[in-house]
Amino acid sequence: MGRDGTIAIIGAGIAGAAASRRLSEAGRSVVVLDKGRGPGGRMATRRGPGSLRFDHGAQYVTARDPRFVALVEAWTARGVAAPWGGAERFVGTPGMTAPVRDLLDGVDLRCGRAVGRLVREGRHWRLAEADGTALADGMTFSSVLLTCPSPQSLALLASAGESLPGVADVRYAPCWTLMLAHDGPPLPGAPVREDRDPDATIAWVAENGSKPGREAGGTIVAHASPSWSRANLECAADDVAERLVTALRDRVPLGEIRYRAAHRWRYAAVEQAVGEPCLFAPAAGLGFAGDGCLGPRVEFAYLSGLALAERAIAEAA
Ligand SMILES: Cc1cc2nc3c(=O)[nH]c(=O)nc-3n(C[C@H](O)[C@H](O)[C@H](O)COP(=O)(O)OP(=O)(O)OC[C@H]3O[C@@H](n4cnc5c(N)ncnc54)[C@H](O)[C@@H]3O)c2cc1C
Repeated sequence: MGRDGTIAIIGAGIAGAAASRRLSEAGRSVVVLDKGRGPGGRMATRRGPGSLRFDHGAQYVTARDPRFVALVEAWTARGVAAPWGGAERFVGTPGMTAPVRDLLDGVDLRCGRAVGRLVREGRHWRLAEADGTALADGMTFSSVLLTCPSPQSLALLASAGESLPGVADVRYAPCWTLMLAHDGPPLPGAPVREDRDPDATIAWVAENGSKPGREAGGTIVAHASPSWSRANLECAADDVAERLVTALRDRVPLGEIRYRAAHRWRYAAVEQAVGEPCLFAPAAGLGFAGDGCLGPRVEFAYLSGLALAERAIAEAA
């Protein structure tokens, strides 16, 4: 018997958005829940004081698969994305969340909902917060598609005594991100500087204001290297910001600093992926998608979400 009721998608990052869009287009009823204040996940733009904005998660998108290439072209044509700095890099406009919001247009999206438990009821599922409070108005779902990073997905599976082989094997590198506004000149030369030395403190520096649709100049996003981030993962954000500013001063000219903040990404870049487009257990009505399946890029997360939607559609046919 197929599973043809409403589908719950946990996570409104690019994978969850892709899955919800594909399922909605196939006529399926979908509810998307995310614990964040808005959608986007690691495609994120953070507000600072005044008009300051920083893309503090994914920096840009690349597209190689024809399905994703077509989507990025459509976003670009409609002003939801634009090329940035050559090398086939695209960014969301006016911020990195814009493409995700676009995919979710018209979808039943409920933000500020941290799912803490999956509760089985016959062949269906209910969702609850960690303390048992019902979510999604107590609705029942024929399937639950998990698109949050694997540790969070594992916890939800465990809450129902379930597992999906492969989810536990995914490994992520953390990343500390510095957001900085200063009165100095924009980064000389290219809008980006990369350092691939694994022992470097800072692996990536970008002039955020050089991205299309952003306020020009004086806003920098710098990512610490995976090794530095791992070694300093539990440090206080203020302390990390201070130390990353010191490291940054060695590399780029900085004027008077107007704003600084650090953000910790515990699960930033996939180091070990499942190696399959998605995981789906039709009998249980449970699935897993996201960059944990195919690797650490927005495009891979999108393709994974799409694959999971296709599996759920095929199962209901
Ligand atoms: C610092 C950084 C830089 C990056 N740079 C690039 C780059 O330049 N190019 C590139 O292609 N990729 C980059 N990436 C990787 C890229 O951002 C990810 O691969 C992609 O965005 C992952 O999408 P996703 O949908 O799989 O997961 P996510 O975007 O993480 O979405 C998962 C969602 O699940 C939600 N969630 C988690 N737990 C729960 C819960 N219990 N209940 C409800 N909701 C929950 C979260 O709030 C989140 O919104 C970068 C990532 C980081 C962190």
